[in-house]
Amino acid sequence: MTSEEGKDGKKERVLHTRVPAVLERELKRFAENLRVPVSNLVRTILEDAVSVADAATETVEERLRGAVRTLEKERERLKKRIEHDPLQGIVAFQDVTLAVSTACARCERDLPRGTRALLGISDAPDAPRVFICETCRPKT
Ligand SMILES: [Zn+2]
Repeated sequence: MTSEEGKDGKKERVLHTRVPAVLERELKRFAENLRVPVSNLVRTILEDAVSVADAATETVEERLRGAVRTLEKERERLKKRIEHDPLQGIVAFQDVTLAVSTACARCERDLPRGTRALLGISDAPDAPRVFICETCRPKT
C-alpha cells in the first residue's frame, strides 16, 4: 500500500486543523526523529486514535495531544507502521549469486552465501544494498 492509497481503497481528504505552536513543535520533533513527514505521523496517530476512540466528542487537537503524550513509548511501533517499503526506490533486480550471507529484505528469510538471489538496484545513490530471495521475485 502506498501512502496515497486509503485503507480499503477509500477516498482520502485533506484535513486542515489548527494546532497550538507547542503541539506543532512536538509533532515536528517526533517526525524528524522518526525521519518521516509530519503529515504521515499525524495520519498514523489519527488512524490509531480513531481505531481506539469510543466517542466522537474528542477534538482532533485533544486526540493529537493525547497521542503525543504516549508517543515516546509507542515510538518503535509507530516507526514500524510508518516505515517505508524496503523495496521503495528499487528500479530493477539483477540475478546474483551471494558472496556473503544476508537476509531477504522482503520476507527476512536467511540467505546463506552461495544462494541465488536478486540484487535490488536503486535509483538513489546512497540507498542501502538490498537483496531479495527468489520467492519474493516480482511476478510479471
Ligand atoms: Zn524473500
